[in-house]
Amino acid sequence: MPSPTAVSNMARSVVERVRQVVGDRTGFTPLHAPTLGGNAWTYVKECIDTGWVSSAGTYVTRFEEACAQFTGSRHAVATVNGTAALHLALVAAGVGPGDEVITQALTFVATANAIHYTGAGPHFVDVDEVSLGMDPVRLAHRLDAVAEMRGGDCYNRQTDRRIAAIVPMHTFGHPVNLDPLQELAGQYNLPVVEDAAESLGSFYKGRHTGTLGRLGILSFNGNKVISTGGGGMVLTDDEQLADEIRHCSTTAKKPHPWAYHHDRIGYNYRMPNLNAALGVSQVQMLEGLLGRKRRLADRYAAAFEGVAGLRFLQEPGYARSNYWLNAILLDEASLEVRDQMLQALIDADFQARPIWQPMHLLPMYASCPRDDLPITESLSQRVINLPSSAYLSA
Ligand SMILES: *Cc1c(COP(=O)(O)O)cnc(C)c1O
Repeated sequence: MPSPTAVSNMARSVVERVRQVVGDRTGFTPLHAPTLGGNAWTYVKECIDTGWVSSAGTYVTRFEEACAQFTGSRHAVATVNGTAALHLALVAAGVGPGDEVITQALTFVATANAIHYTGAGPHFVDVDEVSLGMDPVRLAHRLDAVAEMRGGDCYNRQTDRRIAAIVPMHTFGHPVNLDPLQELAGQYNLPVVEDAAESLGSFYKGRHTGTLGRLGILSFNGNKVISTGGGGMVLTDDEQLADEIRHCSTTAKKPHPWAYHHDRIGYNYRMPNLNAALGVSQVQMLEGLLGRKRRLADRYAAAFEGVAGLRFLQEPGYARSNYWLNAILLDEASLEVRDQMLQALIDADFQARPIWQPMHLLPMYASCPRDDLPITESLSQRVINLPSSAYLSA
């Protein structure tokens, strides 16, 4: 166990390295602030001038087309936020009441919440230390231990519930190892729904995250790579699913000049034109922002190279990451330094945070089925996120 002086030296050294990377700044440096500009004002003003501020308007379609084009997805459906996008994607994937959905325990709470909204429940598996996302090896073990095929469907023989989907999440923009995961999903006849909320601009073996599974979702929350204020997007190559999702996102109203006919339970999840206008301007800036974020990550990597007791989290060898949130990973041995590091960073006006509390430790998900989660539990103590806004490398 390091001595108190060693602890405070280590904490001070981390603050110094962050300062080296982001420069001397007056005032508070947030974890991730949006970089707005370009045509934002022109487009948003046009919505206000013309009165097209709500969920009908040309910017929604333009934003969808721009996202489809950037990601290489055939279809994209814009929603009010990423959580709503995931909810709709799960419903479209056939997830419903009583089902189980396999996801990683180490994720933002929205992943588990969206599963719960469908009436299904999450079933947690562990992550790996390379991507911090779902570990395909652990998933294989877990399915082998609990899954059983009945007809064409996969069941958890311990709970007698149907397993209806797999939801991997690309943590901080680092892609999950999708090939082995997709292969398993195929074996068990399970749709993959990618939570790519954090990984716009991240590629797995050259393909954009969120486009490898049957469905994928993006988020444009204020702290994500690009922002629409609040917003989300469902990605899919399947035209029928895209149509169904668009229909469900607008109260499932059948188009008609006057009649109110709704053919199923729908949602009010469509993205307003005002937000989409901002989104179109943000996509135009996306390549530039990704370049700046990569430069910032390169600087962090250099600043933390060779530092004892920790490492800077870098993209997996099979991927190109957007480095949404930069992170350092402490060794087990330097665990007791974490809180001092967080405090020292915050005292120096750098926003820093540990990773999320794992889902199985939250009261509402504590009794969900789960595999052993040793890596999740270890990582939950060892990650520190560092300021990551694109403008910091300008
Ligand atoms: C941000 C995020 C979401 C949801 O996004 P909102 O747009 O805030 O609803 C979902 N999953 C993960 C992993 C996220 O980080």
